[in-house]
Amino acid sequence: MSERRFDPTTGEWITFATHRQNRTFLPPADACPLCPDPNNEWDGEIRRTDVQIAVFDNRFPALSPTPPAPDVDSDELFRAEPASGRCEVISYSSDHNATLAKLGPERISLLVNAWADRYQVLGSEGHAYVLPFENRGEAIGVTLHHPHGQIYAYDDIPARPLRELRTAAEYRTRTGRCVNCDVVAAELADGRRIVAESEHFVAHVPFWARYPYEVRIAPKAHTPSLVAVADEARDDLAGLLHRVFVGLDDLFGFPLPYVLGIFSSPLNGEASVAGWDGSWDDISHLHLLISPPNRSATKLKYIAGTEQMGGAYSTDIAPEVAAATLREKIPQS
Ligand SMILES: [Zn+2]
Ligand SMILES: [Zn+2]
Repeated sequence: MSERRFDPTTGEWITFATHRQNRTFLPPADACPLCPDPNNEWDGEIRRTDVQIAVFDNRFPALSPTPPAPDVDSDELFRAEPASGRCEVISYSSDHNATLAKLGPERISLLVNAWADRYQVLGSEGHAYVLPFENRGEAIGVTLHHPHGQIYAYDDIPARPLRELRTAAEYRTRTGRCVNCDVVAAELADGRRIVAESEHFVAHVPFWARYPYEVRIAPKAHTPSLVAVADEARDDLAGLLHRVFVGLDDLFGFPLPYVLGIFSSPLNGEASVAGWDGSWDDISHLHLLISPPNRSATKLKYIAGTEQMGGAYSTDIAPEVAAATLREKIPQS
């Protein structure tokens, strides 16, 4: 069964991909599907002895360019649609035990270029929204330890980016300005939540952080997506990201679990769905969000009652205090 169903009470789509129950779950290191398998000894994805960055289709995709028809009938109240889109995997290294902190800024620069390239290619295939993300660590449920991320290409804009775009449209209508440009300028002026900075980008704990050690990275100038970031500024971003990853792994002395997402301009469709009568680029300001679940070395923040049922996050470390701690751990140049 592969389909998506609409929740008419919240206006959100839920994807069902029951075949994913059988996907590879914590395989032994000698049968890792992302480790180089040049002689096809264990049906690995990488048929080469060594690669730097590799992108390929997810073998167990939640969304597919050729999805089957839904199993159930669809009507006005209970809408069901094919789960169309595309799911890719992006491997960061041939080394099963590598981390982005250990791989260094040059590899991260390749990764940034791969994210930008796939964003452009998947957009040209007609998908509405491209979200590169990474789940790291068993604490947030990874099924493969090999360093890798994923890229989902959705055929409509998923709920969270759409909410951000609607909010940006309202802000722009009210003030004439980009909310993210204002946030970046205000954080730079204040400084207490900045954890690292480069020429073109700034990394800060958000004023409204949903997780204690959440880090948000955004370009200082209005930039809708990585495609609009010049080569030299992509290297600048890679250097900053590397410093942030080093600092996060140094925070408690072990590779910190996190969820990372990259929010960019939608690629197709009208901005009117977000209440904006101009272009998507007017209200889209690129940002990366890294959300670690840890509130200490041994304690995790759970998405429980108030977050899950109320949609109202509650955090027990002040963003200014978390930022001061992170600033000590993140190399400042
Ligand atoms: Zn591996
Ligand atoms: Zn902006």
